[in-house]
Amino acid sequence: MKETILIKVGEIALKGLNRRSFEDVLIKNIKRRVNCITPCEVKIAQSTIAVTPYKDNVDFDEIEECISKIFGIATYSRACIAEKNMESILSCAKEYLAETLNEINSFKVESKRSDKKFPLTSPEISREVGGFLAEEFPHLIVDVHNPDLVVTVEVRDYAAFIRGAAKKGAGGIPVGTGGNAVILISGGIDSPVAAWTMAKRGLSLTAVHFASPPYTSERAEDKVVRLLKKVSEYSGRMQMYTVPFTKIQEQIKDNCPEELFTIIMRRFMMQISERIAREKNCGALITGESLGQVASQTIGAIGCTDEACRLPVFRPLIGMDKEEIIEISRKIDTFDISIEPFEDCCTVFTPKHPRTKPVLKYVVEAQNKLPVDELIDEAVKNVKVTEISF
Ligand code: ATP
Ligand code: MG
Repeated sequence: MKETILIKVGEIALKGLNRRSFEDVLIKNIKRRVNCITPCEVKIAQSTIAVTPYKDNVDFDEIEECISKIFGIATYSRACIAEKNMESILSCAKEYLAETLNEINSFKVESKRSDKKFPLTSPEISREVGGFLAEEFPHLIVDVHNPDLVVTVEVRDYAAFIRGAAKKGAGGIPVGTGGNAVILISGGIDSPVAAWTMAKRGLSLTAVHFASPPYTSERAEDKVVRLLKKVSEYSGRMQMYTVPFTKIQEQIKDNCPEELFTIIMRRFMMQISERIAREKNCGALITGESLGQVASQTIGAIGCTDEACRLPVFRPLIGMDKEEIIEISRKIDTFDISIEPFEDCCTVFTPKHPRTKPVLKYVVEAQNKLPVDELIDEAVKNVKVTEISF
């Protein structure tokens, strides 16, 4: 019996004339991912994508897990491929679903016939398959309102498919359809979630991480790499730019008012990230900030940070509580890495009393006492690039 995975696209079904280009990107993303596991045929017909391994005896659980992390997919389900005649459909249904049907008490059959030349109508197919399964599995009752399992039969142009319940996909739109953006990534809980959230909206990511050795360690950087690897299971591969930040932080510490230290540091982060973003053809910056979470994330502080750069800054977590952010970080499996105790450059030289209502004019004045352009040039010149892949 040949098995396949049937995929229904999500929001891209609403894209009108652009739909084809969204579908093409999605198919490319699916191919790239599943082919890392086993070579598969990926084809689309009537807005359903079928992923079929060329070889037999492959690990479908692994393929399913991979598919569950691809954005642009509303639902997916394993299905058995039958020939387009009732005899084949009935025997496949019996064999393919036997294990599940033996474990449940009630079922119903739903059918879809996109090949209108098939001799039976959808209700006729359902009736025949339902009657047959009820006979073959006499403990089962047909329950059209609240069945334990809905058996679906889809008769398409090139084959018939029999499947049980569909699973929820990752949603969103395919990565690569939304352009490129830079994610400012720390080792914390929030920024990996912000990265995931924006990849979900179709953005390809480039990561920028600020490191301040010897105040921050190599293990802290390795932690960020591991976080990004988790994110890349959803977002696809990306590059990580590690920016040497020690000199800038020391200059701020030695020359700027202590209460403005964090805000000036964050302006540098935005400026350097913007430089990298423009080099990499990225149209926005992404951060994991959430309003009011810390002193540098008040409305006034964010205003002072934003003023330092011209690109749009996406803050997908801005209105979320920590609990909501943690829930996503558990779901995408970054939480346990995020809570490993390594210092971030943001936690070195933190002022005792950071300004929560900084005045832009004074912040800019204080920052401009430093050789800003020179410091930025030097930092950008010395970035280290790491390839991240899932
Ligand atoms: P996170 O859990 O993401 O570390 P946080 O609540 O600790 O967030 P901050 O440390 O104030 O918040 O940082 C806010 C945002 O600034 C982060 O979400 C991230 O986007 C960016 N950021 C912080 N530290 C770094 C860093 N070392 N390198 C790159 N970006 C950083
Ligand atoms: Mg942080």
